Amino acid sequence: MSEFDLGKFEESAHELWTHAFESNPGRLEKFYLNVAFPYPSGAMHVGHGRTYIVPDVVARFWRMRGKQVLFPMGFHVTGAPVVGISKRIANKDPKTIHLYRDLYKVPQNVLDEFIDPLTIVRHFAAEYQRVMTACGLSIDWRRRFITVDPTYSKFIEWQWKHLYEAGHVIKGAHPVRFCTVDDNPVGDHDLLEGDKAEVIKFTLVMFRFGDAFIPTATLRPETIHGVTNLWANPNIAYVKVLVDGRPWIVSREAAEKLALQDHTVEIREEIPGKDLVDKKVSHPLCGEVPILPATFVDPDMATGMVMSVPAHAPFDYIALRDLQQAGHYRQIKPIPLIKVEGYGEVPAQDAVEKSGIRNQMDNRMDTLTQEIYSAEFAKGKLFEKYGGKPVRVARDEVAALMAEKYDSIVMYEFDQRPVVCRCGNRVKVKILHDQWFLKYSDPAWKQQVADHLRDMALVPPEVRIEFNRTIDWLKDWACTRRVGLGTRFPWDTAQLIEPLSDSTVYMAYYTIAHKIREIDPKLLTPEVFDYIFLGKKSPDLPEKKKLDAMREEFLYWYPYDFRFSAKDLISNHLTFQLFHHVTVFENQKDKLPRGMVVFGMGLLNGAKMSSSKGNVFLLEDAVQEFGADTVRMFLMGSAEPWQDFDWRNELVLSTKKQIERFYTTVMECKDAAGEPHDIDRWLISRLQLHIEKTTAALDNFQTRQALQEAYFGIESDLRWYWRRLPENNDGSRELHTLCSAWVRLLAPFIPFTGEHLWKELAGEGLVSFAPWPSADKNLVNEKIELAEELLARTVEDIESIRKLIQITPRALTIAIAPAWKQEIFAIIAQSTDRNTVIKEIMKIEAMKKRGKEATDAAKQITTLIHRLPPQVVAPLAREPLNEKAVFESARAFLEHEFGVPVHITEADSSDHVKAVTALPFKPAIVIE
Ligand SMILES: [Zn+2]
Repeated sequence: MSEFDLGKFEESAHELWTHAFESNPGRLEKFYLNVAFPYPSGAMHVGHGRTYIVPDVVARFWRMRGKQVLFPMGFHVTGAPVVGISKRIANKDPKTIHLYRDLYKVPQNVLDEFIDPLTIVRHFAAEYQRVMTACGLSIDWRRRFITVDPTYSKFIEWQWKHLYEAGHVIKGAHPVRFCTVDDNPVGDHDLLEGDKAEVIKFTLVMFRFGDAFIPTATLRPETIHGVTNLWANPNIAYVKVLVDGRPWIVSREAAEKLALQDHTVEIREEIPGKDLVDKKVSHPLCGEVPILPATFVDPDMATGMVMSVPAHAPFDYIALRDLQQAGHYRQIKPIPLIKVEGYGEVPAQDAVEKSGIRNQMDNRMDTLTQEIYSAEFAKGKLFEKYGGKPVRVARDEVAALMAEKYDSIVMYEFDQRPVVCRCGNRVKVKILHDQWFLKYSDPAWKQQVADHLRDMALVPPEVRIEFNRTIDWLKDWACTRRVGLGTRFPWDTAQLIEPLSDSTVYMAYYTIAHKIREIDPKLLTPEVFDYIFLGKKSPDLPEKKKLDAMREEFLYWYPYDFRFSAKDLISNHLTFQLFHHVTVFENQKDKLPRGMVVFGMGLLNGAKMSSSKGNVFLLEDAVQEFGADTVRMFLMGSAEPWQDFDWRNELVLSTKKQIERFYTTVMECKDAAGEPHDIDRWLISRLQLHIEKTTAALDNFQTRQALQEAYFGIESDLRWYWRRLPENNDGSRELHTLCSAWVRLLAPFIPFTGEHLWKELAGEGLVSFAPWPSADKNLVNEKIELAEELLARTVEDIESIRKLIQITPRALTIAIAPAWKQEIFAIIAQSTDRNTVIKEIMKIEAMKKRGKEATDAAKQITTLIHRLPPQVVAPLAREPLNEKAVFESARAFLEHEFGVPVHITEADSSDHVKAVTALPFKPAIVIE
């Protein structure tokens, strides 16, 4: 027998597979699936492995089911990150060098070339392709492209022409996340930290301080009436600056921020924070108040100065209480100004004292603040002396008043910190002018997407809510950048289209990627693409024959059937691509995406995988150490695709042993030639169920469920089979049938072992293209399955009783339930009302005579029916099983199993006390 050697299986399968998965339009029905293409800026880890192996398993499954399958792959190299990486490598940044040289194992001579960003993406694109191939991904590599290919840029220009003409590309001023080091807006993908932070519009309340202003940022301008003091940090330096020509005092950080938000800022002098403490400021709406010291004031939050409203803000209340408990500022009292149901006179004091919070560090402080904020906004009313209006009205009115009369302006700031760019710099809010946006805020556009989403298959179904939420809250998206790789923005060629905006319709490009390469990019006008994708004819189209071939490809493959991606992309990429599709293919409903499968995340030994934190296990290392099939089977079997999975080496090792067991079993069984027994008919009958369930699971993308059936289900049947075979019997020729189906059921998961075994089984062609097994109803034998189920359950019962009584048995008696109990079983199993059925039974004359014996039996049988699986109960209700015959024919087996004589008897004619406990499908067992 040839040895189990995954390395060898891989080698020979790779030879068989060269060009095997290149897929062309044909007569078969198509199945087109694709997965978010990778950004190849570093090595692949096992988390990436799952992302690409799930679609591969699905591709292999549908290929075997007789569809023409397209599974393409390209590489997304657009954007700034790789430019930053090359800069850092050029500057010999030790952290970056360590990551690339030591973790990603880039040889020094190659690393030296990384000062050119294109070299980085070319290097890793080649590596990705190599590792994907090593994993057995059945990709049509002829269609590979990278997003800076000139032909791809022409395609993007065409796509954007349609977006522009539909009015979705606009220009305006807008606050955006911005990195001053990169001099570029910052996208979700460019962030190390703070990707959930939102830009919030604050009102600056301008307090007078001598000839200058001290501005404080607030979301609650109406609380100005309750200000008792300002807070300044005594440990930091403030600066006096001229903002638009007028003197302000703010933190140094704030001065930089204001300069990014349409203000001229000139720094004049530094003022230590401690010099501000105990000075007075004033505002027309609250009069004169002191500045108090507070080290919690963050110079990087808005202006670095805070107005204090202790009656309504828990943080202010506690800070003031702390100072007063230390004996300072005792004359200051909170000034309430809002009445709100559920809180006392001074809401902040009330809330803090009720919850027993002792200091500012208490982690309940944020929640408490939020609670009061929401309660006051929803149902709060200002006191009569402050106008008596509801908070939600007063807030806007006070803000407007301040803007009009008291010099207030707006400042943009994040709602949480820190927000850190990939380059390590703190991200700030900048107002960009001449910035281009995709107008995702357009309600009509949103509606088109929402309408189409309703027709889409989404897996798992619960992500639908998230898609709808995203469509709802999407705001205008800054779609151009100044730095990076990518396609020039057609209406301002100094800018580039940013990565999340040039990767939305490329699934259509895959259909022609291998053919469009043959055409000179200069000839690729928008009219050319209009013809290929929209069928719009125009005069003088070049290379008409080639265009027709591409049109044919597109019409055959599009729309795609399923797109696969991680769940964190719902809030951007996965939704963006729908927006773009509904515009580009506006009048072609039949070209819009059909379905999406959304993945969970990957953990490594329980912690989130992250390249930047070094917590990764490289996919290539995993394949080398454990074998590609092991990696695949582990990733597919440990969780369903939408669940999070956790990579643990020790579990992966046991997966490898499972594959070896499978291999050895098939090799041992495949040539069995004996005559079939009843147990063979049972094995083949059970196989039909496993085929049916595996197929149903894969239809629903449940890779784990499919493996449970296809691997563990069949393996456990085989264990029982061997146990039941008579001694000195090697099994029958039906085992070959089983092995042939088994190898095919597992082939999508472990294709390398699959190809090897398929050859050993003398299967025709490649297993990758072999017909998927189909369940044959004629081979299902309910009677035999029931008989074996009864036997297996009885063996289990005997084993557990034997453990309990701890004597060496001399004989075993199996007492079978009498016919009248079978009758009760049938009545209860068929009844729709389990509550009244016992009464019904007791109306039968024969049962009435049995009295308590019959009611007791009915109760026990009710419990038993609850415990038995429905597929056992249903047939038994129709027709009782001849249990006596089942046990008689298995007597030799039972005697061999337990090594004692076995007696089979009717409970009615037995004088054993225990015999009366016999129930249908649960005989009484007496061990002596
Ligand atoms: Zn940066």
